[in-house]
Amino acid sequence: MAKIIVLSQPVADKIAAGEVVERPAAVVKELVENSIDAGASEITVEIKNGGITYISVSDNGKGIPSEELETAFLRHATSKIKQIEDLFEINTMGFRGEALASIAAVSSVSVVSRTKEEESGTCMKVKHGKVLEKEEVVCNYGTTMVVENLFSNVPARMKFLKKDSTEGGYITDILSRIALSSPDISFRYILDGKEVFSTSGDGKLKNAILSIYGIEHARALYEVDYTEHGIRVFGAAGKAELARGNRTRQTLIVNGRYIKNHVVSKVVEEAYRNILMTSKFPFFVLNINLSPGLVDVNVHPAKTEIKFANEKEVYGIVNAAIKNAIYSTQKAEQEKNALGSQLTYSNSAPSSKENVDEKIVREFMERTIPSKNVGGYFFKEPKNYDHSQDKGAFSENGLFDQGAEITFNLGDSLKKEDPQIKNDGVLNASENVKEDFPPIIETLDKSSENAVGTKVVGQLFGTFIIAEKGNDAFIIDQHAAHERKRFEILKEDYLKKRAKGQQLLVPIVIDADMMEIQTVLDNQDFLKDIGFFMEEFGKGSVIIRETPFIGDEEEIKALALEVIAALIENCPMGVLSFEERILDMISCRYAIKANKRLNMLEMEGLIRDVEELEAKGIFTCPHGRPIKISFSKKDLEKGFKRIV
Ligand code: ADP
Ligand code: MG
Repeated sequence: MAKIIVLSQPVADKIAAGEVVERPAAVVKELVENSIDAGASEITVEIKNGGITYISVSDNGKGIPSEELETAFLRHATSKIKQIEDLFEINTMGFRGEALASIAAVSSVSVVSRTKEEESGTCMKVKHGKVLEKEEVVCNYGTTMVVENLFSNVPARMKFLKKDSTEGGYITDILSRIALSSPDISFRYILDGKEVFSTSGDGKLKNAILSIYGIEHARALYEVDYTEHGIRVFGAAGKAELARGNRTRQTLIVNGRYIKNHVVSKVVEEAYRNILMTSKFPFFVLNINLSPGLVDVNVHPAKTEIKFANEKEVYGIVNAAIKNAIYSTQKAEQEKNALGSQLTYSNSAPSSKENVDEKIVREFMERTIPSKNVGGYFFKEPKNYDHSQDKGAFSENGLFDQGAEITFNLGDSLKKEDPQIKNDGVLNASENVKEDFPPIIETLDKSSENAVGTKVVGQLFGTFIIAEKGNDAFIIDQHAAHERKRFEILKEDYLKKRAKGQQLLVPIVIDADMMEIQTVLDNQDFLKDIGFFMEEFGKGSVIIRETPFIGDEEEIKALALEVIAALIENCPMGVLSFEERILDMISCRYAIKANKRLNMLEMEGLIRDVEELEAKGIFTCPHGRPIKISFSKKDLEKGFKRIV
C-alpha cells in the first residue's frame, strides 16, 4: 500500500481550487460576485473561447488597496468576515475567501485595481499561484481581473470541460441570472467579440428581463410584490404564453443571491395550476428577501442551493404572492377592458410622461424585430415532389400528411350547414369538443367497413374512436394512434436520412438565449435530419426556415423550443432513446389532438393505421401507453347479465 503523505501546498491548492472553480462559469460567477460586493454599479464581462482562454471582469467598485493585493490572493483571505458568528448574518456574496486563491492556482491572473484614496493603480500578475510581477499603472477607480488559460496546469480538469460553445453557454446562463438579481447594476457581456446583452442598471427588473430575454418576455409579465411576516417576495412571473417545456427560465434569488430550490419552483407552479397545462413551466424571476439568519446558504459549496429555517412559511408566502399577482393583474385587465368599451379615447399624442418602459420596448422593437408579413404559413413543395404518390391532403390548418393514409378532405363546399351532417353516425357525447370543421358527409350504411371488415361506430368525447369487427369491439385513442403512426414514419425517414424540411414562406422568429442559439448552431446536421432548418437571427433570436411539418405558428415555436431544450439536456427519456425522444416530440405536436371531431374517412384512416401498426407488433404510443382497448360482445353480454 502507498505510504500516507502530506500533500504539498501546490497540489493541495490545485485540488481545493477544483472544488471552487470547476469550470469557467464558476470563475465568472466568483469574479462578478466580488465586483458586486465591492459596490460596483457597472460591470463588464468579456469572454473568449467559452472562458477557457480568456475571462475579463471589470468593475467600478471600491478597488483593492495596492498593499492588500497579495493578501487577496491568499487562501482564506477575505475582508468580509472575521469570526464564525459573522457567518449567520452575512449579506455579501462570497465570504469563504477562497475564490481568488483558487482561480490563481489554476490559471494566469492579472489584476489592475485602484481605490478612491490612491493616486494611481496597481497591476499584479499571478501565475499558478505565484506572484510574477507588481507595478504601478495609470487607471480608473475599480478593479479589472483577467483570467487566462484556465486549468492549463490541471490537464485532468481540462479534459472534463465541454466544447467552448457549451462552456460559453453556462457563462451566459449564470451571468443572466446575476444580472436579473441586480437590476440596479449595469451589466455588459461580450462573448467572442459580440455583445450578448447589456442591461441598463436602472433598477427595473422588467428592463433587465427585456435586455436578457427580449420583448416577448418583457411584455407578458405579472408583477409580484407581497410581504407577510417580514418575508418579502417580489419580481416578475410570466403569463401563460411564456411557459416552456422545461424550467430553464426560472430564476430564484434569495437575499440578492441567485440560488436553486426545486420546492420553490413547484410552489410557484402550483399557483399556476389553473392557467397552465401540466407539462408547462412558468417563466419567473422571483426574489425572496428575509432575515439572513433564517437562511443557510452554505449547504452547497458552490452556494447555489440553500435551506430555509422556516420552509413551510416561506413556501406559503411564495404561493400567495404568485396567486395574488395573477389575480390582481387579471382583475385590473378585466376592469380596463370593461372601461375601454364604454369610453372613447382621444387620439392625442402620448403625454410627456411617456412610460419609460414602453419607450425602451418601442426602441427595442424598432431595432430588432423585422416587420412581420401578414398571413399564414404556406407549404412549398420540396423539389422533385412526385404527385402520383400523394395519399394525404391539406387540412384547414395547412397540415399535410404525406405518408399516413388519412384523408383530410375539407373543401369549402363542405363547410356549409348541411342537415345530413348530423346523420353521420358520430356520437356527440361531449359538449366540449372543438368543432374546427363539420364532419364530412358520409353515412354509416354507405361505407364504414374497410377491407378487413372493421366498422367505425363513431367517436366518443371527440377523443376516442369506437369500432367493431365481428364479435369484438375496440376503443382507440386517436391521438396515441396518430402519434405512433407519425413516429414510425419519422423514424424511418430519420434512419434513412430522407427527412425533408417543409420550407416556410414566412419564417418564424423565436426569442432565444445564447445557450439556445449555440445549441442550434452546433446541431445543424441533426436538426436537418429531423426536418428543421434554423439559424441565428440577430441578437437574441433564432429564425425557423424549415420545419418537419407545416402547422400552427405557436405549435411550431413550441416544438422548436422543446427540441432545443432537449438538445441542451441531451438525455434519453424513459423507454425512448435521445433521438426517439426528439422524433416523438415532433409526432406528438403533429398528431391529431384529443378533443378534435373527426369525420368518418379520418376515423377509418386511423383504424387502418392501427391495424398496420398491429401487424408490425406495435400496440402502444411511443411512451408505451396503449393505443387500443378491446372488449367482446361476450363481455357486454356478461356485464348486462344476458349470459353468465
Ligand atoms: P471572498 O469574496 O470570499 O472574500 P475572494 O477570494 O473572492 O474571497 O476575494 C478576496 C478578497 O479580495 C475579498 O474579500 C475582497 O476584499 C477582495 N476583492 C476581490 N475582488 C474584488 C473586487 N473586484 N473589488 C474589490 N475588492 C475585491
Ligand atoms: Mg469572492
